[in-house]
Amino acid sequence: MEAAAMKPVPLRIARVQPAPDGGARRPVLPLRDSFERACHYLRLSVTDVCNFQCAYCLPDGYRRPVGAEPPLTVEEIRNLVSGFASMGLWKVRLTGGEPTVRRDIVDIVRAVASVGGIRKVALTTNACRLTKLAAPLREAGLTSLNVSVDSLDRRRFHEITGQDRLDEVLAGIDAAFDAGFDWIKVNAVLLRDWNDVDLNAFLGWIRERSITVRFIELMRTGDNSTLFARHHVSAASIQARLVRDGWMARAREEGDGPAMELVHPEYRGRIGLIAPYSKDFCTTCNRLRVSSQGGLRLCLFGEADHSLRAHLQTPDQLEELRDEVQRLIGQKAVTHDLHRGNHGTTSHFAAIGG
Ligand code: SAM
Ligand code: SF4
Repeated sequence: MEAAAMKPVPLRIARVQPAPDGGARRPVLPLRDSFERACHYLRLSVTDVCNFQCAYCLPDGYRRPVGAEPPLTVEEIRNLVSGFASMGLWKVRLTGGEPTVRRDIVDIVRAVASVGGIRKVALTTNACRLTKLAAPLREAGLTSLNVSVDSLDRRRFHEITGQDRLDEVLAGIDAAFDAGFDWIKVNAVLLRDWNDVDLNAFLGWIRERSITVRFIELMRTGDNSTLFARHHVSAASIQARLVRDGWMARAREEGDGPAMELVHPEYRGRIGLIAPYSKDFCTTCNRLRVSSQGGLRLCLFGEADHSLRAHLQTPDQLEELRDEVQRLIGQKAVTHDLHRGNHGTTSHFAAIGG
């Protein structure tokens, strides 16, 4: 079903579900938007700060906006995730900015992983601190890792990210395997006439490795329109080549988002393609986003954050948090408006986590 063909349906009636901590049964509304899409996946930014200067994201590096609120504390994050988990949400991704610049990132992971009902805690990182952090993060309950690697060529990596740290990033990935992560996803933003020549290097790299390399189409934000005009390329160009070389689409699994995955009998690793400009990208949208200051964002390309922070101060605000989220989720739009050139109000993804 195409997103445009989806019709809103009336809000559902509360049904009885076990509490996430396995305690008393109580009525809760499962998180579904007005188009019957179940929202079981939260992408939580834990900081806007980043130590890289990716050309498409923060080319001039992070600058703290005047008067910026501090990020959510570990306790606020625990209360937030408990509220969402009590409505059936089971997967949380921690992102940023660069989440590992927070000194308490291990405590955050531990807090999120300990919330009843949360089955998956993922982290998206540039991996610059992963050699030190992979083992403690794993021990704290992190279940999966996405590492951004835009090029396997040291010079191009430096040009794109502003950091000559490819070796550290690759060492971080090795450390993650050593710490017990059995499969790692690697994100690479596709950049025409820049890293598109790296496809063969990525393919060689995953021939014997338990890695999915996910090529993400460059998305336009408020700050990157010149770069977008110069370097955006559709994932369809890579897809055609991969299919010609024997790569096949993999069946979707529970919790899969909009990425298409391809497998090949001669490769241990996989390829993912994320094409937000494709016409039915939003049909499988199962996610909500919360900014590092506690703002609920219903769509990556949406217009506004709805602050939840006032409802996160104590654990006994769970009911009011749920009421607020249930009220807001009815406003989640059927699809983004990228096709008409409207990319929302986000100036760059470091502010909301991508
Ligand atoms: N700093 C971490 C990192 O880079 O992995 C986490 C935050 S970053 C905003 C999350 C993901 O968004 C990264 O994989 C990054 O490459 C991707 N991203 C950022 N800006 C993007 C854009 N304009 N288009 C497509 N992907 C983008
Ligand atoms: Fe930082 Fe990630 Fe943005 Fe790169 S993509 S500047 S690593 S937040």
